[in-house]
Amino acid sequence: MTASAKPLALPTTIRGAVLTPTSPGYAEQVAGFNLAHQPCPIVAIVPESEADVAAAVRWATESGLRVTVQATGHGLTGDLADTVLISTRLLDGVAIDAEQQSARVGAGARWRAVIDAAAPFGLAPLNGSSSSVGVVGYTLGGGLGLMARKYGFAADHVRSFRIVTADGEIRVVDAQHEPDLYWAVLGGKTGFGIVTEIEFDLVPVAGYFGGGIFFPGTEAAAVLEAWREWTPQLPTEASTSISLLRLPPDPQLPPPLQGQFVVHLRYTDIGDPADADARLAPMRSVAPIVMDMVSEMPYPAIDSVHMDPPMPVPAWSRGLALSEFSSDAVTALVDTVGAESGTSLMLAEVRLLGGAVRQPAANCVPGRDAAFAVHAIGVPAPEIAEAVARDLEAVLASLRPWKSGGLVNFVGHASAEELRSLWSEADLDRLRSTARRVDPTGTFGAEDVFGS
Ligand SMILES: Cc1cc2nc3c(=O)[nH]c(=O)nc-3n(C[C@H](O)[C@H](O)[C@H](O)COP(=O)(O)OP(=O)(O)OC[C@H]3O[C@@H](n4cnc5c(N)ncnc54)[C@H](O)[C@@H]3O)c2cc1C
Repeated sequence: MTASAKPLALPTTIRGAVLTPTSPGYAEQVAGFNLAHQPCPIVAIVPESEADVAAAVRWATESGLRVTVQATGHGLTGDLADTVLISTRLLDGVAIDAEQQSARVGAGARWRAVIDAAAPFGLAPLNGSSSSVGVVGYTLGGGLGLMARKYGFAADHVRSFRIVTADGEIRVVDAQHEPDLYWAVLGGKTGFGIVTEIEFDLVPVAGYFGGGIFFPGTEAAAVLEAWREWTPQLPTEASTSISLLRLPPDPQLPPPLQGQFVVHLRYTDIGDPADADARLAPMRSVAPIVMDMVSEMPYPAIDSVHMDPPMPVPAWSRGLALSEFSSDAVTALVDTVGAESGTSLMLAEVRLLGGAVRQPAANCVPGRDAAFAVHAIGVPAPEIAEAVARDLEAVLASLRPWKSGGLVNFVGHASAEELRSLWSEADLDRLRSTARRVDPTGTFGAEDVFGS
């Protein structure tokens, strides 16, 4: 579908804002966390209610327009041109049911709100590395969190959700009612409708032993080699990842890290703190330490494990999953992004998978068989944009011998073909037929993602 050449008759029954590119406030409403993209939808709608979402989608379908959805713009990989953007940011309610150990949240909610609401009950959600990420987008892409080895993907813990499909109907979806839609939306992410509310499990975790240890980047080969030998011994209570990180000279960072190239070991252990400390001990002696920020923490401090940037940044990213992280893979990664590589990338990280991530669930989240997930990020300032694109490709190419699919949330700026390759042909058939059933007019563009 393409935008109509005739002047658009805008919807009149919506209480929230309906903005065109010349409307005051348009730029603020369409802006997302990833500043590498300036979205330019033909219309931006900011619903105040689920009924608004339904009216907006019905209007777009009847007008023959493509719909995209945004909560925070953490997942932006394009400019959303020729689409109607529905921003869910105002639908940010969070309700905790401590007895049922569950949360019910609106489409615009971020993890921070859920973490803070759940903590007083000794409960935690299965959020990821940054609490500013949106709950729904993260969960629909699988959601690989810092307790995934113990509990699996966030998508595996969704009890139900409400979704507005292309006809403007609100469907209540769980594994028993609408099993195909439940299966497809959780993991397939894009192309089925707008989730307005989601209910999911919380887990009884009040705190963790963890944080980050920084080593000099020049020690990357030794630290990565030690990390890969250490990870198989970890129980599922322990999660870890490691990144090669080029930090800016930002005065907000601790002085020893400002402007430095470092290896950042991240560790989150929800077992007994003394055991967790003992488990980490071998990694503390593999190289000189620049900073050690690991300690016993209350769960709401979880952002301190990865220290992702809290403010919007421009970023291009790519990712893949690995069947193993062998010594040869360590060498390949160090050659591509290590001290001598001359890379333009800001970060290349490897996350340990395994444990409950491997357990099958009633959803189409890919990547369960992989042993590690890799994600690389560059900041595409105009003078280095070409180099960033080239260097992201170089990371993928160097690790291709160990490639084992990928994770939806970490494919970044992948082509449609690469995204499609995450699923088997049988899964793609089921994704396509489910999308055709709920969106015969292609309002949500499933064909572009899953093919026809
Ligand atoms: C700093 C940072 C840290 C991250 N850490 C992790 C991590 O630890 N683990 C992990 O798994 N991922 C992680 N991600 C990836 C993140 O989960 C995805 O980018 C996710 O899509 C972001 O969702 P959002 O709603 O915040 O972003 P948005 O850009 O607002 O949305 C991204 C996409 O999600 C879908 N979506 C959002 N809302 C809805 C809705 N209501 N209905 C239907 N579809 C919807 C749409 O396809 C949309 O294009 C991280 C990303 C960043 C930038």
